[in-house]
Amino acid sequence: MTRDWLSEARVLDAADPMKGFRGRFHLLKEGIYMDGNSLGLASVDALESLERATEEWRRRGIGGWLDADPDWFSYGERIGAEMAPIVGAHPDEVVMVGSTTSNLHSLVATFYEPKGERRKILADELTFPTDLYALESQVSIKGGDPSRDLLLARSADGRTLDEGDIIDMMDGTVALVMLPGVLYRSGQLLDMRRLTKAAHERGIPIGFDIAHSVGSVPHRLHDDDVDFAFWCTYKHLNGGPGSPAALFVNRRHFGRAPGLAGWYGYVKERQFDMSITFEHAHSAGAWQMGTPGVLSAASLDGALKLFKEAGIDAVRKKSLALTGFLIEMVDERLAHLGYEVGSPRDPERRGGHVAVEHDEGWRICCALKKRGIIPDFRPPRVVRLAPVALYNTFEEVERTVTALAEIVEGRKYEAFSTKRDAVS
Ligand SMILES: *Cc1c(COP(=O)(O)O)cnc(C)c1O
Repeated sequence: MTRDWLSEARVLDAADPMKGFRGRFHLLKEGIYMDGNSLGLASVDALESLERATEEWRRRGIGGWLDADPDWFSYGERIGAEMAPIVGAHPDEVVMVGSTTSNLHSLVATFYEPKGERRKILADELTFPTDLYALESQVSIKGGDPSRDLLLARSADGRTLDEGDIIDMMDGTVALVMLPGVLYRSGQLLDMRRLTKAAHERGIPIGFDIAHSVGSVPHRLHDDDVDFAFWCTYKHLNGGPGSPAALFVNRRHFGRAPGLAGWYGYVKERQFDMSITFEHAHSAGAWQMGTPGVLSAASLDGALKLFKEAGIDAVRKKSLALTGFLIEMVDERLAHLGYEVGSPRDPERRGGHVAVEHDEGWRICCALKKRGIIPDFRPPRVVRLAPVALYNTFEEVERTVTALAEIVEGRKYEAFSTKRDAVS
């Protein structure tokens, strides 16, 4: 007997303890949003806090730095502390600042100290490309040669990495390890605790780019003893387009001077003394450089309230149920049409999205969008689908898979060009 997926989905939706959160988001007028891992949707809370900040600006002008509620001066530290439970950190280990890429720069400038034989940075070939561009420039700044000093762990299947292989590469020539938490294409979740332990046993500091996992996977950055990490807030955290990023520095390192210093990293109480001698804060706040973008941070402020209410463990539980349901459907209903699951099936090993692969991936994405279903595409053949715990339903997963089936059965993708758009 074939399964009645739609009825199953409706039963799961009816029993979903998180269903109340959906109504707090501005869902698209029509259609299904499956792209929360690229840009999360706006929430009522996010837009309210943004409006409050614009009103404070209107009413108070410069007075807002201290008199706004909440004040703008400590925005970076305050929002950082709000994010701390989501990533498993102490409140003073997290600060909101910069972009994912600029945070990589400032942290690597701090923790990459090539000396003697130890000159290399170990990264991987499946990471988000901006990380490699930035690492190459960091190697060059310190007088190295990226073709020699940037080591990349290779993937055997083009989708996933093997922690054992990465650990084998951590030898006496490696000065820093820099890896992703979740791989942006396949959604593989790396074992950060194991990698950190192995790096430390060999005397190597290690940092993680958790832009693709934060907000869908609970992290334990402090307990795992990670040295540093950074992430953006516009994906699963729903902070809005270009909302500021954040970083984590383990308390053990608060005595260190930031590699790229600026006046916002000064001891907070004395920043406005305007001394010409830099005295860095003893918190993650030291890794701030200049004035925070209050308006783009304000929408994040509201967006984070939803995580506080829901709790990251409940978010993870529903996220795994949604992606598990999606994987089962792809296996049972789509495999004969040339579709393949490119994400780990083991729930312990995957993040918050699923890679559905097909040779016609790009044109299938175009056909989905025409039907109002928003995925994204990553070359060469990955249709990424992110059913998000806070606002997607099991029924939406069912409708998306049904559309994927119809698009290939009816060869609907043939109506679209193979030429890709600038943003996919
Ligand atoms: C989205 C993403 C980025 C993007 O970097 P920005 O500086 O925010 O543009 C970097 N790394 C990973 C892993 C990402 O998922």
